[in-house]
Amino acid sequence: MKCLRYSSVCVLLFILVFTSCKDSHEYSVDSAFTEYLQRFEDEAATRGRTFDPKSSGLIIEFGDLSGDVAGLTHYEKPIRIQIDKTYWDAISKTAGADMMKEDLLFHELGHGLLGREHLNTTLENGDWKSIMCGGDKVNDRAWNINYRGERRKYYLDELFKESTAAPDFSSLELAVDTTGYSTFVQRNFDTQDQAIWPLVDDSQHKISLDNGRLCFQSKVDQTYLVLAKMGTSISINSNFSYEITIQYPTGTATNQYGLIFAPASSNATDSTEYFTINNNQRMFMGNRLWYSFFTELPESSIVQAGVNKLKVFKVGGILYYFINGIYCYRSEIVTSTNLNQFGFMVPAQGTVWVDNFKIAQQASAGVVQKVKQNIQVIGGAQVISDFNQHTINKQ
Ligand SMILES: [Zn+2]
Repeated sequence: MKCLRYSSVCVLLFILVFTSCKDSHEYSVDSAFTEYLQRFEDEAATRGRTFDPKSSGLIIEFGDLSGDVAGLTHYEKPIRIQIDKTYWDAISKTAGADMMKEDLLFHELGHGLLGREHLNTTLENGDWKSIMCGGDKVNDRAWNINYRGERRKYYLDELFKESTAAPDFSSLELAVDTTGYSTFVQRNFDTQDQAIWPLVDDSQHKISLDNGRLCFQSKVDQTYLVLAKMGTSISINSNFSYEITIQYPTGTATNQYGLIFAPASSNATDSTEYFTINNNQRMFMGNRLWYSFFTELPESSIVQAGVNKLKVFKVGGILYYFINGIYCYRSEIVTSTNLNQFGFMVPAQGTVWVDNFKIAQQASAGVVQKVKQNIQVIGGAQVISDFNQHTINKQ
């Protein structure tokens, strides 16, 4: 997201030539944006700030912005904000549209009404510190920001007051109890009855056992979601963990691979939750109903091209992410229905080795402990041509 900063000379020229007869108090906001402008005014008001753009002037309009620019603030009188129509329409089709639109509008209003500039520092857990992140890329990291759930209030506080203290969610000290989990299902891939998935070799993929690991070789140009269906669902209200070890030794370093899980319903893979890494030591998390991954994080605990253990704990409504035993991140689960599909993700034309597949549930009064290894597991693999790995356009 870019605030186009014309050189001051250009701005001066522009003002001299064009604005002498322009109403500097013009108010013109496309109806698509009025709700978000109102929210901005309301959030400002709760923090003791008053804005009255109807009398002071403001223009927010759709534009056809070139390149990968989502929004643009022009420092004119009045402030003029342009939102790229193509980007807006694209995010409108996804589950996370409302928060993404709010993030985009609030970022531009941060430039235009709060006078804020880009701020590209990060919190302890790697999250962007501010929704004012943007401009030139930093460390080639996507601008995707996990603007939702428990993060929203912090990001709004920070928007209106840059000195806002770091939020609890950004701490890398794990604040929940992850003990007392009993194994629900476990596979080690040492023998054929441990394989879960049928050992096949067809035109699309090959599945084999290789020295005590499952080897999945993709022969297609799309992402593979490889899910095992449980005969018994995991209640969405329970606390559970899911882990695998996975290795993707060759292939493009930016390709994502990792663990996935999904609800029991027929269109379940639409709302697949994912936790992926790549061989550039980046991690990603998200849900396929959204436009893209929530954020991209540099994680030094990732062994490049080596064997990595990925584990996620669900505690309440929050997922806690671990890489090789190190707690990295926490963020809300999107799925709200019972889960019965667990598996892994394979990059296009990629080969991954998977081991130590394990699902566990936290003992509680309401959860009847299942007998280990007694759960029917059916393997399946689905080619996904539209996996949501977009990066967020500049703002
Ligand atoms: Zn910007």
